[in-house]
Amino acid sequence: MLIPCFACESRFDPDEYFLACHDYNRGMDLVAWTCPRCGNRDDLRVLPDAIGLAYPRRGRFDVQDRFRVPGLRRHRLDMRLDISLDKEIWRVPTRLRQLT
Ligand SMILES: [Zn+2]
Repeated sequence: MLIPCFACESRFDPDEYFLACHDYNRGMDLVAWTCPRCGNRDDLRVLPDAIGLAYPRRGRFDVQDRFRVPGLRRHRLDMRLDISLDKEIWRVPTRLRQLT
């Protein structure tokens, strides 16, 4: 199956797509995703069997669009999110933020 970029509608196989996830925000339960083609950055929430596209609203993020990915699973850890699909696992680390 192929997963689309919500901005440019390029389609990626799961490995290419999840490798482009690069920052897990545990507090908001979002991963940052930067499209390898168009460079658009989105905030995603990995859900059971779906990817949710989140938009800021009233100081929080609400998932408004979903793309179904049957078999998608997530496992929240302290400093990373593990995303699994079939027998593959992608690990998205939490980037440490410096308070300035
Ligand atoms: Zn794109």
